[in-house]
Amino acid sequence: MHDPKVVAFNIRRPYPEKSSRGAGRTPRWKIQISRNHVSPFVTLAGREYYFPDLITVWHVEPHGEDALRGECRGTRWQWHVHHWEIQWCFIQRWRRRLLTRCEWCGGRSTKRDVVNCSHQWDGPKQSLWRGERGLFHMSCSTVALAHARCICEVPMFEQGRDYGTCLLCTKSRGWRQEPNDATRMLQTIPNGGRIPAEMKPHLDRIFAEIRASKENS
Ligand SMILES: [Zn+2]
Ligand SMILES: [Zn+2]
Ligand SMILES: [Zn+2]
Ligand SMILES: [Zn+2]
Repeated sequence: MHDPKVVAFNIRRPYPEKSSRGAGRTPRWKIQISRNHVSPFVTLAGREYYFPDLITVWHVEPHGEDALRGECRGTRWQWHVHHWEIQWCFIQRWRRRLLTRCEWCGGRSTKRDVVNCSHQWDGPKQSLWRGERGLFHMSCSTVALAHARCICEVPMFEQGRDYGTCLLCTKSRGWRQEPNDATRMLQTIPNGGRIPAEMKPHLDRIFAEIRASKENS
């Protein structure tokens, strides 16, 4: 496998989590340090703790070569600051949880309802302290996309075209895309609203019918 990246070092979170590996360990005190690696598992008074990564610093071998096979081989590669790629794992997770809001409903990202759907291929570079933009809860993304679609009975397009932006509703319609019942139903949800629980079984049934009719055609 081709991989130009290798971990240069980790900056560990200064406060630990209790490890699931349990209590009553011997030796009662243990910190493992090998040549360029400090183990994230530390035993303090017979109990094992785990220090997750706060920041991972990767060394990226230049010119697309495999890690430490190119010009950086045999050098003090951990300190090639110009080859570093920094992964703010913990900070990014924390930022998403605290600062990022769903573009549709304004709700937070939670474990059960993550705000991580994007409608863009590539988001702009965003300031770390402002929360990520352009992200949706998965179900909100479905509602938002449905709201952007033209469901006019008789749509109107620029002359000579049969798809694109509808001049009547200013929403858009794809080529040969007929509005379906799911889109119509989702558009009855007000702007910024979430899918009501009682609507979910109806939507599931419509989506199942659409899937079945696509398979049969
Ligand atoms: Zn070079
Ligand atoms: Zn290097
Ligand atoms: Zn949402
Ligand atoms: Zn329309």
